[in-house]
Amino acid sequence: MKKRHVPERSCAGCGAKKEKGKLLRFAIKRKEGRILFDERQKIEGRGIYSCPDPKCLGDLEKRARKKKVKQIRGIPLDAVLEALADAKRHAGGEDGKRLTEREGGS
Ligand SMILES: [Zn+2]
Repeated sequence: MKKRHVPERSCAGCGAKKEKGKLLRFAIKRKEGRILFDERQKIEGRGIYSCPDPKCLGDLEKRARKKKVKQIRGIPLDAVLEALADAKRHAGGEDGKRLTEREGGS
């Protein structure tokens, strides 16, 4: 069987390498000084990645506040936090739904 090459990226929170498709992507729009949560991984531009885990998103936020994420240097922190909030809603939303479904409503 032929094995397809699976592109891997590192989580900017915990540093783990994972398949690109299993990570959340953020597209960096350097010219505009913006960063966007790229839910479908289709937005042009350089990207940074995070596991779909609130902990990793939190770590990424901490590192961004301390300006330790070199890819997003020069992007206003507000823009970074906004993109992270979008991603957290996405990550948390899915989990939340799954949990409620399993509980069958209470
Ligand atoms: Zn991670």
